[in-house]
Amino acid sequence: MLCKTNYHTHSTWCDGKASLESMVLAAIKNGLQILGFSSHTMYPFGSNWHLQPENTQAYCKEVHTLKEKYKDKIEILLGFEADYIPPVSFPTKKRYAQFNPDFLIGSVHYISDENKKKCCFTIDGNCDEIKTGIQTCFNGNAKKAVQVYYATQRDMIALSGFDIIGHLDVIRKRNDVLKFFDETDLWYKREIKATAQALAKSNLIAEINTGGMARAGLKTPYPSAEFLKLLNHYDIPIMINSDAHKPEGINAQFKFAEQYAKDAGYKEVQYLQNGTWKSAVL
Ligand SMILES: [Zn+2]
Ligand SMILES: [Zn+2]
Repeated sequence: MLCKTNYHTHSTWCDGKASLESMVLAAIKNGLQILGFSSHTMYPFGSNWHLQPENTQAYCKEVHTLKEKYKDKIEILLGFEADYIPPVSFPTKKRYAQFNPDFLIGSVHYISDENKKKCCFTIDGNCDEIKTGIQTCFNGNAKKAVQVYYATQRDMIALSGFDIIGHLDVIRKRNDVLKFFDETDLWYKREIKATAQALAKSNLIAEINTGGMARAGLKTPYPSAEFLKLLNHYDIPIMINSDAHKPEGINAQFKFAEQYAKDAGYKEVQYLQNGTWKSAVL
């Protein structure tokens, strides 16, 4: 039977809207067997939506306390969603070793101008941030911005040192509204193919992330159906995560995601239990 899990969970330690304990209670209520916390981090730095570096130890302590308190009901794991922002932040086990996390998600939220001189904007920000970012950092060239986004992800994949790659095409988040690129364009297909090929050379797990459906009104999870089929073609292991920021999102659209994975050709998903990565039949 499929093990019910979620390894992508935020809380008020970063930009989540609820305490760690509220998220645990929601997970138990919804029958999850394993819950992994993944506060946004760019240790040793921070922004207003990241875990503040000086709070990192306290965050870990609270996760450990809850792990013990609820051990008969659910397995709780300590993780981080660490940003890749060269040369500032790298999602590597080495950088987080002192906190001894059970797992690390590596994510790209920021893209820099072509010369990587300065950090430009968050590609999953609101529509205005994205419009302004493309205008000021890429002279309005949206194609270039999208290409830089995927190239940045491939750089992160090559770096490796983490377990799970977060929301592979989160750049789609505002595209339904802004329509700044066309997923059917050949150049776009080349980008996602090159990224799937880069993942094939790594030992990273990709996530089907339902957060965009729950929070941004998207009709499909990240990655797109076409991207997910490519991942399956290259034998990239996957897992299903909610990227929950509120208790009610803890397993949002998981049934949809399971069918979505099957439709892409997947037969199993990965999960981490008692310190060991395992696979479960879908
Ligand atoms: Zn993220
Ligand atoms: Zn997240």
